[in-house]
Amino acid sequence: MSTPARETPMMRQYLALKAQHPDAFLFYRMGDFYELFLDDAVRAAPLLEVTLTSRDKGSPDPIPMCGVPVHAADGYVKRLSEKGYRVAICEQTEDPRSVGGRRLVRREVVEVITPGLVGDPQGLPAAREVALAAIAIREADAGLAALDASTGHFRATSAQLEHGALPKALLDELERIAPRECVLADDAPETALTLLRARLPQLVISRAPAASFAAAPQQFATASQQLGGPPGADLTAAGAVLAYLAAHQPSAAKLAPPLRRYALSDTMVLDAATRRHLELFESAEDRTRRGTLIERIDETLTPLGARRLAHWLSYPLLELGAIRERQNGVAWLAERDRARGRLRAALASVRDLERQLAKCARPGAEPRDLAQLRASLAALPRVRAWLASDAQTLLPEAAPASITLPEPLAELAQLLQDAIVDEPRALPRGSRGASETGFIRVGFRPELDALREAAHKGREWIAGLETRERERTGIATLKVRYQPVFGYGLEVSKSQLTRVPSDYERKQTLASAERFTTRELREMETQVLGANDRAAALEREVFESVRQLLLAEAPRIRAAADAVAEIDALQSLAEVARRDGWVRPELDGGTQLELRAGRHPVVERVLQGEGAAFVANDTSLDPARTRVLLLTGPNMSGKSTYLRQVALITLLAQIGSFVPAASAQIGIVDRIFTRVGASDRLAQGQSTFMVEMRETAEILAQATPRSLLILDEIGRGTSTFDGLSIAWAVAEHIHDAPGLGARTLFATHYHELADLAVAKAGVANAHFEVREAKGEVLFLRRLVAGPASRSYGIEVARLAGLPVAVITRARQLLAQLEAGEFDARGRPRLAEPGSAPNTSQLSLFAAAPPREPGEEAVLAELRASDPLRTTPLDALALLERLQRRLASSGDLA
Ligand code: ADP
Repeated sequence: MSTPARETPMMRQYLALKAQHPDAFLFYRMGDFYELFLDDAVRAAPLLEVTLTSRDKGSPDPIPMCGVPVHAADGYVKRLSEKGYRVAICEQTEDPRSVGGRRLVRREVVEVITPGLVGDPQGLPAAREVALAAIAIREADAGLAALDASTGHFRATSAQLEHGALPKALLDELERIAPRECVLADDAPETALTLLRARLPQLVISRAPAASFAAAPQQFATASQQLGGPPGADLTAAGAVLAYLAAHQPSAAKLAPPLRRYALSDTMVLDAATRRHLELFESAEDRTRRGTLIERIDETLTPLGARRLAHWLSYPLLELGAIRERQNGVAWLAERDRARGRLRAALASVRDLERQLAKCARPGAEPRDLAQLRASLAALPRVRAWLASDAQTLLPEAAPASITLPEPLAELAQLLQDAIVDEPRALPRGSRGASETGFIRVGFRPELDALREAAHKGREWIAGLETRERERTGIATLKVRYQPVFGYGLEVSKSQLTRVPSDYERKQTLASAERFTTRELREMETQVLGANDRAAALEREVFESVRQLLLAEAPRIRAAADAVAEIDALQSLAEVARRDGWVRPELDGGTQLELRAGRHPVVERVLQGEGAAFVANDTSLDPARTRVLLLTGPNMSGKSTYLRQVALITLLAQIGSFVPAASAQIGIVDRIFTRVGASDRLAQGQSTFMVEMRETAEILAQATPRSLLILDEIGRGTSTFDGLSIAWAVAEHIHDAPGLGARTLFATHYHELADLAVAKAGVANAHFEVREAKGEVLFLRRLVAGPASRSYGIEVARLAGLPVAVITRARQLLAQLEAGEFDARGRPRLAEPGSAPNTSQLSLFAAAPPREPGEEAVLAELRASDPLRTTPLDALALLERLQRRLASSGDLA
């Protein structure tokens, strides 16, 4: 009687393991494959694009199954985790040979890959963190912790709840960290979940038992002491992250990443809109690094430095002392080309120490991983020597005092050198207990060498056996053969059997020959095979103990990585500063912003590539004099570039970098607010105008006198008069509101706004110079004082070749509009063609009689049109249409 398929010992083992990981795909190791069964197989096969089969085809109730080869498993696992799924990796945790088929091989889940805990760091973006976050909500505050398990970077912060809900600042921070996965207690309020989903739709939210949020582990006691604060929600969140890590990747958890507590107020808040608008990490065009500020300043030589620099750019500093310390380091390095060259040469052979360490801690770690880490460690003494010689002089005052490389790593490097051969072969994945040998260096473990020697001697004896036996028996064709199942044998062809001596024992019969063995051969065979097996086991053991010694040094390896990261990021900024002639900005506690000959770091680079020159411009903002600079003028004149340039220079200054300008004096900015262009949140169901107004509202609510405001085309998303009124009121408010008066750059196509400068002492006008040459518009990109000419658009239309009659009429209409004949609802009263322009003063909401219905339609269309986005031809068509409509409604004879 056959056992039902689902009740075989193997399926019972499978189902028991699966029950422990119901929410993960279970990759069940069978030989060279990971197999998935039942529901997992049905769901995973299409995701992995593999064939769905079944385990017991003949049965009435077959078990669905699919599988992936072990050697290619990482790619499949990655594919699932990037789609937001979890994968539990189940390995055979004993040698099948030792079981010998008497019972089922023991299997265990060795790690669970989740979107935020990737496991294998291979192929991760070198310059970015991959974080797992947790949010803890307590009575009065909420905590946020984030861990990049591949680098061991672990930090936590907290903020007060706002009306019992997740504080906005914490959501902003979560967005800045951009984790792949966030852990939330299973009893967390539904509102928190909703808020997270709305704010970060891509984020995978994982629920964890409330108990894992209950208590911060003991190890955080010191962390809380260090910061002086009581154990807050940040530590609760950090505890939840560690619990989640331990549950899913116990081997990584053993590395115990050190926690850093930080306060959101320590560094500049950079909201998502600002990061996007300023293209710090992702270009607006294709969301890659191309054309971003980080790409522009990244001359780091190690992934460690690249991540550090990205971190600096994410968290600009607010504290003068800290900024100056970084500036000192950059300045010292920028001034010394030879010393910097030596440092760069030393750094170039350090690889990703942090992720190499993470790889060594994984369950599948192999000798090759240790050898890779060894290469990085071996490169450290050069960096250390540089720090000891060159940097000795550098760094008395400038020296980032924290940059010291710990000594004992030399010993660890030596140990790895002595223990592991130069180029260990890649082992088949998860081949625990397999008979791979040859990766432990000769001379490291005498016992191992003895076993190898014994095996070697035995093999030599066997090799010599053929000659010896031929002589003894006189059988010239006698051969020594090896066969995996039967082992060694003396092969004698049938015709020679009569000459076989009496001490030969028959072992195996073939078609034309017999194989024999002797007592001596049997003993030697046992010795060889036994020695091989024992050598393989011993190699594993030695490897494991070396690996444990290495993992025990994790804190020091991380300290070394930290020092390398710091010095690499500093030299990167120095390299850029020196190569591109950037200057050291002067920062202080004031509120001025004085830039001489400032340039946009990225646009300048792009233009250089095209052989064009960037036109440098000055900036002068100071609440005591001009705090709002109104930029008017047409599209393409350079307004947006200028706005961003000022913001980017400020940002660079506050990460400690030099800046692209002839000189810069900057009173520390507490926050940069940007409201730029159309937003792309339409997909989330918010209209562009709504987004624009929401962003504006947030800016007005949060800006302080120390902020820098970059406002590009406020009010553009609605009708002209609405938009103008809003833009006007916003500019006025920034200027007047007590406790505001922030340094502001305000670009607008509403020329009317220029009048603000007449009434407001702190508002100044500027525009970009435009010339006409040989019938062409020439953008000079030079910023000059005063408002742009109002009739600028019509001039462009004229140059573009619109008929003279149309241009004349347009000028006339413009004059009338500006003269301000408006009705009670703010709509301009159009005059007959040919009548003289009205010269009365501009008054936005003067009283006037109501309109005819035909006129209404014309006005609506006119209002809806956007002159700056209308081609000359469209304008012509529009005018014609409007005239026709008025004529048909009887208004125009
Ligand atoms: P606007 O915001 O007024 O429409 P932009 O700032 O987008 O104009 O500038 C349009 C183009 O002009 C940019 O793509 C850039 O190539 C070029 N440009 C802008 N500022 C400068 C400058 N200072 N020097 C040289 N080229 C510039």
